[in-house]
Amino acid sequence: MSDQSLSDPGVAPAYVRILASPDAPRLPEDLRGLHYPFGRWVPGPGEVFEVAPGVHWIRFPLPLGGLDHINLWALEDDAGWVLIDTGIGVPGAGKAWDALFKGPLAGKPVSRVIVTHYHPDHIGMAGWLCKRWNVPLEIARTEYLLARSLTLDIRAEPPPEAMDFSIRAGWPDDALANLRNRGWGHFNKIVSPLPAGFKRIRDGDVLAIGGRQWTIVTGRGHSPEHSCLLSNDGLMISGDQVLPRITSNVSVYPTEPYADPLGDWLESIETLRGIDPGVLVLPAHNEPFHGLHVRLDQLAADHADKLEKLLALCATPRTAVESFSTLFRKPIADSDYGIATGEAVAHLHWLEERGKIRRLTDASGVDRFVAV
Ligand SMILES: [Zn+2]
Repeated sequence: MSDQSLSDPGVAPAYVRILASPDAPRLPEDLRGLHYPFGRWVPGPGEVFEVAPGVHWIRFPLPLGGLDHINLWALEDDAGWVLIDTGIGVPGAGKAWDALFKGPLAGKPVSRVIVTHYHPDHIGMAGWLCKRWNVPLEIARTEYLLARSLTLDIRAEPPPEAMDFSIRAGWPDDALANLRNRGWGHFNKIVSPLPAGFKRIRDGDVLAIGGRQWTIVTGRGHSPEHSCLLSNDGLMISGDQVLPRITSNVSVYPTEPYADPLGDWLESIETLRGIDPGVLVLPAHNEPFHGLHVRLDQLAADHADKLEKLLALCATPRTAVESFSTLFRKPIADSDYGIATGEAVAHLHWLEERGKIRRLTDASGVDRFVAV
């Protein structure tokens, strides 16, 4: 995702993007404590793969830099297929779904469409699918309302709040000019029109599908009310809440510029530690894996490491932009300023909320953070 705002994902919204820290360990996967029961094998276009009886893995391409696929899941129920997530709404996505409906998913209708969260690679084809099969969209309320509001927010220029957010973060003039020139409101370019109403799912709900009981486990921080689905026989459809090799984006956005999403994210990690460590995790990106708790530990440690380095950096006052080289392994290109700013501000706000740094705002409206 080349943009700084959830209000403006741009044309290539990699909401999940690897921006690894400079010295993050790069161990071979088999040394990192995760086990991939299907290895690196993945289903090809038009294929499905049954990871457990009645649980089918679908993989759609994504036209995003650095992230080329998303995993979707089709659960077999008596009434039809229950789809979990839908792919991004780009040309060809409908044809790809139709090929599945004529091929491996033939013989049953789609009976339910469930979406884990509002990001375009997950919700993009939901409206199209719901209309095609005349079924409601099932999603958490906050995620639905956010997606709907984004489809309606189209402007010629970024709103003043977005410019102010980027100025506060210390963006250089040329990056600010690029932001201004890029327009605003690209969400509906990659999300098919959403239904005007929805069916709510929420934390703790139990959905009976295909002889299993699936409990909704809500995560926060990557998106505001992200639904994971946990089965009573050891499967966890984790969406973007737990990914084996990608650190999910946890960002502050101009729509909620004082938010503390990293606090939400780290709390969610603690919540997820309550899940049986033996579950087979079915993530939205990369491959199914065992080792949920190992991965939760890695995610928590990665953020703790970044926070520690950031706190040390703030011995002298720093802007968000001035923290990029500490937080991220690669130099941040202009097109990645948005996502990098969101993540940097999320870490700064975590420290600020807990009284470890404080904010100094200069006459130009630029925020610098200094250790207390
Ligand atoms: Zn996401």
